[in-house]
Amino acid sequence: MEKKTHSDISSAAHALLRRFYGYDSFRPMQLDIITAAMQGRDTLVIMPTGGGKSMCYQMPALLADGGVVIVVSPLIALMDDQVAALTANGIPAAAVHSLHSEADNRAVMDALMQARVKVLYISPERLMTDIDRWSSSLPVRLFAIDEAHCISQWGHDFRPVYTQLSMLKKLRPDVPVMALTATADRITRDDIARQLGLVDPARFMASFDRPNLSLAAMISPTKARRVSIIADMIRRHPLDSGIVYCLSRKATEEMAAELSARGFRAAAYHAGLSGSTRNRVQRDFIDGHLQAICATVAFGMGIDKSNIRWVIHNNLPANLESYYQEIGRAGRDGLPAETLLFYSFADLITLRKFSDESGRREINMQKLQRMMDYAESPVCRRRVLLNYFNEPAYTDCHNCDVCRTPPERFDATLIVQKALSAIVRTSGTASVNMIIDILRGTPATDIVRRSWHLLPTFGVGRDLPADHWRAYLSQMLQMGLVDIAYDDFNHMRITPAGTELLRERRNIELARYTRPTPKASRATSKRRADNTGETDESILSALKKLRTEVARREGVPPYIVFSDKTLRDMAQLRPRTREEFAAVEGVGERKLARYWKEFTNFFLHH
Ligand code: ADP
Ligand code: ZN
Repeated sequence: MEKKTHSDISSAAHALLRRFYGYDSFRPMQLDIITAAMQGRDTLVIMPTGGGKSMCYQMPALLADGGVVIVVSPLIALMDDQVAALTANGIPAAAVHSLHSEADNRAVMDALMQARVKVLYISPERLMTDIDRWSSSLPVRLFAIDEAHCISQWGHDFRPVYTQLSMLKKLRPDVPVMALTATADRITRDDIARQLGLVDPARFMASFDRPNLSLAAMISPTKARRVSIIADMIRRHPLDSGIVYCLSRKATEEMAAELSARGFRAAAYHAGLSGSTRNRVQRDFIDGHLQAICATVAFGMGIDKSNIRWVIHNNLPANLESYYQEIGRAGRDGLPAETLLFYSFADLITLRKFSDESGRREINMQKLQRMMDYAESPVCRRRVLLNYFNEPAYTDCHNCDVCRTPPERFDATLIVQKALSAIVRTSGTASVNMIIDILRGTPATDIVRRSWHLLPTFGVGRDLPADHWRAYLSQMLQMGLVDIAYDDFNHMRITPAGTELLRERRNIELARYTRPTPKASRATSKRRADNTGETDESILSALKKLRTEVARREGVPPYIVFSDKTLRDMAQLRPRTREEFAAVEGVGERKLARYWKEFTNFFLHH
């Protein structure tokens, strides 16, 4: 690939962005990622759901004259949607996977060879079966590996077939690889790069912060209370939709029945339903006919619905990666959305059992523990989440239940200093229990063998019982002062933030330890951080109606015609001419030609 300068790429990319997508600017990092790929570099892209990952690998297909981009994804269900969205924007794309007939797949490969496809989505199984046959004769400009965390044993969603992707770099060392994922902790990130054999990859980490999502958790609400809270949620968003995640199939059906009995439009979704029922429910949800979908985690992978206004977890998820991904389905349009987590000890028992049966018990238990800690956190929940993904967060968010009703805090400077110094003096080779033994001066065998009973810190925390220490260490973990290396015997390490705190002898507060008692917290807030300015809601709903008509006529889901965000922008701009319509965010060349008459006509009459 010839080297182009940053500014060549930038001006060409901006023109294509406007022309094909109708967007005026790139999101943070997109252009840097695209540029790195165009300059032939391997890239590792960590960007939260909704951050705009697809653009990063689609744009190189448009920039590279006559080149194609091959996108590997494990989410077959998502591929056809992506292809539909690209096609609607006038970008030739296609997908090859096991849900299409063999004849269709073959036709796609022929089109690819004849350069009639610029972006090809393909499942990893399919890619690996015959890649050596076609790849050498094809001007591949980029391999994009979506959901790249699936390659790592340390990730939360390991898929053995993904490990074969290490072949790509061997087969085509000349083609850059872009690995993308929405969730990966530090260990998984390094593992992705190593396993794919990326050569000095450029790393891009977008912020995981989604400030428009409110966060809340509630321990052990009764079933009746859960239903009434969900009902309230639906009433607060009567024209929009949300997801209730349940752990079991039966629970999804029960919840859907409860909500339907109260007159809401709700349906269940799980892997035990027939394919046609699942498709219908999913369509109804996407098209906005359902207020609530009660689903197992089978639902949502690759659902590109930008206006989901709330997500409720009826049960504790197995790890923070899944939780984050699931709540991340709300508010992808950037407007305020609510999330709420219910959990109970029964969930824990079920999840422990799953983890025992998983064959990856150790790592899964560790991840479950972090999930629990989050649910019971006395620390701002957003800080916990961000620190978990190794994104230092030192300030409270004011949009979670902990921030809204903070627990009693006290000056814990001395406690934190003692704990940090024990961790420093064991040089990151002691587990949580060992640290507690050292602090409490317990001469356990492990401690004595390593001569830790001789440390000056030994016994300095004798005044506090072990469960207090455990709670305080857990808060320190959540605040990002320490970290646990679960690829290294779960040893505790101090983070740069912890080191700084020690060095500067800064004061710090912790939440006072109280015995865990089931308590109900205020579920959700009515506070809306609306940042979109005024939109006339009646115009908007009329526009939505028009969009539905157009979508029905064209046989595509409404969001393929225009996203909610585009409609909002339109409602504000009120375009009455072709030129004005072209200025709407999300209106590219293709959609301009296709829709300007109908929509400007709408504004001439409203
Ligand atoms: P991800 O794959 O990271 O979850 P997507 O690629 O699906 O996210 O992008 C999320 C949404 O953001 C999509 O509707 C997409 O069209 C939109 N989007 C992406 N890039 C831009 C941009 N530069 N300007 C405006 N919208 C964008
Ligand atoms: Zn907060």
